[in-house]
Amino acid sequence: MKQEHNQQLFERYPKIFEHRERLWCRDGWFDLIDALCARLQEISDRTGSQVVARQVKEKFGGLRFYVSQGTTEHADAIAEAEQASHHICEVCGQPGVVKVSSGYVQCRCPAHMPEGARGLEEQMEAARALRKARDEKT
Ligand SMILES: [Zn+2]
Repeated sequence: MKQEHNQQLFERYPKIFEHRERLWCRDGWFDLIDALCARLQEISDRTGSQVVARQVKEKFGGLRFYVSQGTTEHADAIAEAEQASHHICEVCGQPGVVKVSSGYVQCRCPAHMPEGARGLEEQMEAARALRKARDEKT
């Protein structure tokens, strides 16, 4: 994530980003993370249990938001945002889908999808076909 976006989140949510750990995802998820943090802080203020971000990153085309001192309510909000990230282009924030390209799973809109990227189903189908072909040879 761009330094200025990192900085904005640190300034808006100093308690959540107490460790000022940089966020390892692209800028298309900025609004999603911003909204999630607003919700997490509201829950923290209300319950007196201050959630602290441990690591924020992209993995398998989805957002991962690891925290400490979270309540069930925090966990539910995080799970919802992580789910939503599977439908938001990580580059620009437009609606996206998760596909595989060069072994890398990513969520992208049509404009940012690499040439030749495959859907997850398609990818598994191809792997199955490959395995089948190999098994038939032996
Ligand atoms: Zn995009």
